[in-house]
Amino acid sequence: MGQGGGRLAHGEMSRKGNELAMDSAAERLGEIKARIKTSAEGQGRTASDVTLIAVSKTFDADAIRPVIAAGQRHFGENRVQEAQGKWPSLQAETPEIVLHLIGPLQSNKAKEAVALFDAIHSIDREKIARTVAGEMERQGRRLTLFVQVNTGEEPQKAGVMPKDAVAFVAMCRDELGLEISGLMCIPPVDEEAAVHFAFLAKLAKEAGVSGLSMGMSDDFETAVEFGATHVRVGSAIFGGRG
Ligand SMILES: *Cc1c(COP(=O)(O)O)cnc(C)c1O
Repeated sequence: MGQGGGRLAHGEMSRKGNELAMDSAAERLGEIKARIKTSAEGQGRTASDVTLIAVSKTFDADAIRPVIAAGQRHFGENRVQEAQGKWPSLQAETPEIVLHLIGPLQSNKAKEAVALFDAIHSIDREKIARTVAGEMERQGRRLTLFVQVNTGEEPQKAGVMPKDAVAFVAMCRDELGLEISGLMCIPPVDEEAAVHFAFLAKLAKEAGVSGLSMGMSDDFETAVEFGATHVRVGSAIFGGRG
């Protein structure tokens, strides 16, 4: 896949976003799922190989309920405190909900995060890995964990540096006894996402993990083409965050 493919997908998504502005979140969800299926099948995979995480950050319980009613079960939030305000009641209504923390985690929030979330995509330093391991032990909970990699080596962005990713995964596994499911990245906004997705897939292979959490509203189809197992889609389902 060349660079042109990624750009085209990006433009199409933006146009679709505008055209569908009047549709409901549940209808947009259906459309996203259909597009994931097409992309997955184009690679000889199936829709069930790709977990769609509906990113509901900034949206309240009333906005989220119709998406749950439409059958969506995996949701993503980027702040522990915000998630604590709305998810316990939604989880009580629908126990099969799987909640993913996709934003940075501070050690002082690890206890709450391990209690509330089923997956954390932002393990990116030894201290947080150690704290999460301890909390899982204490609470008797087993979360799905992804190591975030700063593939663009951006100073302001979280994530381990690419050169450290393989050793970091090994440290989590061998020293902390943590099972790491995969790697996660957020490509730089001004760069071709496909290059970063391919890079993350290569690092995951080297690290011996199979999960790839990559792709957002503008580039989830590209991510699926490069092997994403988890795509994190917010605005294309819920609308703009203003
Ligand atoms: C907000 C967010 C997303 C979803 O972004 P959209 O462009 O709205 O799809 C995905 N991943 C992370 C880490 C995010 O913070």
